[in-house]
Amino acid sequence: SSRFCEVQQAPPIEVFAVSKAFTDSTSEKKVNLSVGAYRTDEGKPWVLPVVRKVEQELAADNTLNHEYLPILGLETFATAAAKMLLGSTHPAITGGRVTAVQTLSGTGGLRVAAEFLGRVLKYNTAYHSAPTWGNHNLIFKQAGFTNIAPYRYWDGEKRGLNFDGMIEDLSNAPENSVIILHACAHNPTGVDPTQEQWKKIADVMEKKKLFPLFDSAYQGFASGDLDNDAWAVRYFAERGFEMMGTQSFSKNFGLYNERIGNLMVVVKDTACITPMRSQLTLLVRGSYSNPPCHGARIVSRVLNDPALFEEWKGCIRTMSGRIIEMRKGLRERLEKLGTPGTWDHITAQIGMFSFTGLTAAQAKHIADKYHIFLLSSGRINMCGITTGNIDHVAEAINDAVC
Ligand code: PMP
Repeated sequence: SSRFCEVQQAPPIEVFAVSKAFTDSTSEKKVNLSVGAYRTDEGKPWVLPVVRKVEQELAADNTLNHEYLPILGLETFATAAAKMLLGSTHPAITGGRVTAVQTLSGTGGLRVAAEFLGRVLKYNTAYHSAPTWGNHNLIFKQAGFTNIAPYRYWDGEKRGLNFDGMIEDLSNAPENSVIILHACAHNPTGVDPTQEQWKKIADVMEKKKLFPLFDSAYQGFASGDLDNDAWAVRYFAERGFEMMGTQSFSKNFGLYNERIGNLMVVVKDTACITPMRSQLTLLVRGSYSNPPCHGARIVSRVLNDPALFEEWKGCIRTMSGRIIEMRKGLRERLEKLGTPGTWDHITAQIGMFSFTGLTAAQAKHIADKYHIFLLSSGRINMCGITTGNIDHVAEAINDAVC
């Protein structure tokens, strides 16, 4: 018998399973509202024109080759990415208190962060919002964190933030707990704290000596404005926190499969940077040795060239603008149909996702009867909605709720 026969079947990853159900469906009216990727109003993936242009330039550039990148990646990329997150005039940047390394997208950045915090700083406790992006728990678990707990976040009844619950849970977290915070456009709820609330979150975290880890997967993609979407991260850094920030360029550059991301660390003492980078080097060396180059070259060129940068900002406004339009359209239709319940949360939430409040049974009904595929949590990807299918989606939700 096989040495592998004791291996147990692991549970499926829901978002990929639901996407497969969509692909397998033969219905002409099928709609995929599960996976977090942008779609045009024609329901197609979008290669940003600025990305296409830079790729053509790269392809024509005979000076480029396929040599290894350094272990910590392309420096022009990592530096520009950190400036994008904190703002180039941020005191942490001008004071040289920021270091950054290229990672395998946001997921890889989180994993390197977790490995560093666990193995080097010996932290073992991490908190994530309830609910959160499903991978947070898995990443920290696999990095060896033995104590992973949720903090309250979503209030199902008011379909908004459970701010008091969040503050209470953070107040009870032990010193040096890693607190995973969504920089903007919280996944899956689309609900972010207000600036006043962020200030109170920072107060508690400062008092309790908790460690902020900002997961920034949607900068610019959420509101269309890079500065606005980075407000919380910048505020924490200004308050003097030592902290980490992970960045994903999957959504805002549409570079999902290039695995391009960044891990940024803000420190109090610049002398800590060199030893810290040496430890990060060991962690990366022992896991994937060095990162891929294509995405880093693209993002680096765009962020470091004022004209391309402006062009890219236009692209993120196009994407965020379309999402905001679809939110308005869906809410209007549900209200017009007289669908029971309130639907203002659809337009109040921001970013790619909306936490509709639909139950698992309602999600199943919608999939079975209307061939519209969403997660059992009721999370929908707004980008899956187009002017062509929005009536169909609204009718399906209405039918499921009635
Ligand atoms: N964090 C959050 C909250 C996300 O939603 C995502 C993308 N689904 C990521 C991180 C990372 O994605 P990627 O690894 O593609 O950068």
